[in-house]
Amino acid sequence: MGLKNPWEPVQAYSNTQTPRLRKPLPMSVNGHEKDGDFGIFTTQVNKLIGWGRSSSLWPALFGLACCAIEMMATSADRFDISRFGAEVYRASPRQADLMIVAGRCSVKMAPVLRQIYDQMPEPKWVIAMGACASCGGVFNNYAIVQGVDKIVPVDVFIPGCPPTPDMLLFGFNELQRKIREGIPNPPDPLKASGLKLGGPVGDERG
Ligand code: SF4
Repeated sequence: MGLKNPWEPVQAYSNTQTPRLRKPLPMSVNGHEKDGDFGIFTTQVNKLIGWGRSSSLWPALFGLACCAIEMMATSADRFDISRFGAEVYRASPRQADLMIVAGRCSVKMAPVLRQIYDQMPEPKWVIAMGACASCGGVFNNYAIVQGVDKIVPVDVFIPGCPPTPDMLLFGFNELQRKIREGIPNPPDPLKASGLKLGGPVGDERG
């Protein structure tokens, strides 16, 4: 008499111990039996590329102030931005294609921000996270840039002071949608105006 396996109900659903039991699939309306084989599907190359780009965004590390704490929380386990393929924050702009400007940007920091943006390879995108990055927030004074869209082309603005990680995720999903739909970046504000920022950093002349 064989022993009854007490783990059988678990093993039936575990893919680490025994293969899953294949359940019979329902018949489709035209009578073709679905067998799990995808067969052929067609798409367009630009859609496939957009899908790939949107699902593997690598943000540059660019926390400027309090909003950065919320950005860090977005990477942690509770919100887990890696679900959307963006957990790889890069310390080098050469390896990043997304800049999340998290916090207020001072006038002195503006050339640094622009330099990092310029060093990122194309295609690249920018999210302005929070009221300060979007419009200066409560810092309506001479020291703070009144919106980083005066320095870099911003694809998505996220309001709030600070925006919650959920809001950043929503903005991030909106950016993914823009990329998938092929919506281009907004015009570069510096190229459009012909203005030049002082810098680069370390090149100041007294
Ligand atoms: S929007 Fe609020 S939380 Fe974010 S950097 Fe400005 S003051 Fe800080």
